[in-house]
Amino acid sequence: MHALLETLVAEARPLTARGKPASYIPALAAADPSLVGLALADGEGRIFEAGEARKRFTIQSVSKAFALAYVLEERGANAVFSRVGMEPTGDPFNSIIRLETSSIRKPFNPMINAGAIVVASLLPGRDVAERAKGLRAFVGRAVGRPDVGFDLAVRESEDATASRNRSIAWFLNELGLLATEVEETLDAYFEQCAMLLDAADLARAGSVLAFDGIAPWSGERILATRTARTVKSLMATCGLYDGSGEFGVEAGVPAKSGVGGGIMAAVKRRYGIGTFGPALDPRGNSIAGLYMLARLSDELDLFAL
Ligand code: GLN
Repeated sequence: MHALLETLVAEARPLTARGKPASYIPALAAADPSLVGLALADGEGRIFEAGEARKRFTIQSVSKAFALAYVLEERGANAVFSRVGMEPTGDPFNSIIRLETSSIRKPFNPMINAGAIVVASLLPGRDVAERAKGLRAFVGRAVGRPDVGFDLAVRESEDATASRNRSIAWFLNELGLLATEVEETLDAYFEQCAMLLDAADLARAGSVLAFDGIAPWSGERILATRTARTVKSLMATCGLYDGSGEFGVEAGVPAKSGVGGGIMAAVKRRYGIGTFGPALDPRGNSIAGLYMLARLSDELDLFAL
């Protein structure tokens, strides 16, 4: 296994020259685009890794899967799905257009920004600090280490340049979909996006999803089976935004990406996989991550369908 992961990292590294780190959040633009990390967590709690699998990065939209799981556990499915749909959009992650044009009058799914901002407004807690801290504690349980932090500079950089997310949040507010005030909601959302994890963490969290909510390394139940299934299904249909269909054809596993360069994948009753590579394709998905997941899927026969 270790040799396979090393091979995939070596194959992926030259491909990173085809992409660039995200720059619309200025603090992300400084990332080294040649970094590539890969980690796989199995059902016995073992971790296999290669490349920069222990280099921490901000998880950005991968946090949407964690926040969804946490809010489903804390508030129940009805609180979430009365305000957010379950359908893919085929639009970029930060698109606003369907909020006005579609008849459902709510974001299509929790994996795009509009849906995730609604979910962030449902995080339990009295204020932003308490909500963000509660989510980090939950993520800590899902990755098997209690000290999950966040990158303040990235959070502030996003806040300072977030005209698009601010527009989305105000539109959501006008539709009556936010459970907390607009700026508070955005603060919690930016802080969740700035959480710092590495590919090995994403592999472990992916393995919790893969085993329907049980942490393979301890046997502890982290999520209800139903929650894990809901999150995985939405990852499979919407996790890579307008690249979700193509990724389904290439790799065939539920996965969630973020513009920090991470992807978390879950392979039913087999593995959690974490990838890292800040060079992104035009849709905001990691070039190295997409490549390595497709290759792993072929090599290990991971296709879910
Ligand atoms: N924080 C980022 C944003 O809202 C997350 C987007 C992403 O990772 N696709 O724009």
